[in-house]
Amino acid sequence: MPVRQTETPRSHIFTVGLTGGIGSGKTTVAQGFAAHGIRIIDADEISHALTAPGGSAMPAIVTTFGTTMQQANGALDRVAMRRLVFSDPGARQRLEAILHPMIRSECVAQLERADSPYAMLVVPLLLESEAWRARCDRILVVDCPPELQVKRVMARSALTATEAHQIIAAQISRAQRLAAATEVIDNTGSLSALHTRIDALHQHYLLESAKPFSKS
Ligand code: ATP
Repeated sequence: MPVRQTETPRSHIFTVGLTGGIGSGKTTVAQGFAAHGIRIIDADEISHALTAPGGSAMPAIVTTFGTTMQQANGALDRVAMRRLVFSDPGARQRLEAILHPMIRSECVAQLERADSPYAMLVVPLLLESEAWRARCDRILVVDCPPELQVKRVMARSALTATEAHQIIAAQISRAQRLAAATEVIDNTGSLSALHTRIDALHQHYLLESAKPFSKS
């Protein structure tokens, strides 16, 4: 019997792209969906693995930037690299040319293996890339005011307020992000309010992913 050809590859799993500015709550939200058994594919986690000691991206990074960007244990020196790419757009492009194709292919491989009713792809720069947008059936944006982003980032990491503001300014604007969303999670309130919203959205995505042609 001939196999029916469709535009959607057999391996396509209904994919919710999760994005938001720095410190908006992406990881916290993703953990909430993971608790419902949803497979989470996290581009940042993959990027960290690629640049950990022995990571597959390290040889190319050392060839391109020299050993000054490498720590004694062989991992990427993230603080030094962050400072370099903020002061040198060419360096940012060279780093992205190494990392982005590797991150994308690992995300696709993990999506193909995902065994939950739908999968969630967590990508901070999802909206900056047409390829990522096109891969997602829905775009879920985690949103909170920039002041709260800065406060939460500073409580969690060694970044200064100025550095946190610089990162926010370099990212896509809040208004653009909200305009691109198919769903928004407002993360201005408590963690318990956040989890109530996650539970409702999970039910919504279960229904959506069960529809035969659910890509809008
Ligand atoms: P990044 O962009 O840096 O990866 P993120 O978007 O993944 O950050 P999280 O790590 O989830 O954000 O959240 C940032 C910090 O804020 C964490 O310490 C988290 O525990 C805290 N946080 C997130 N949401 C809330 C909330 N509703 N109430 C209180 N703290 C929160």
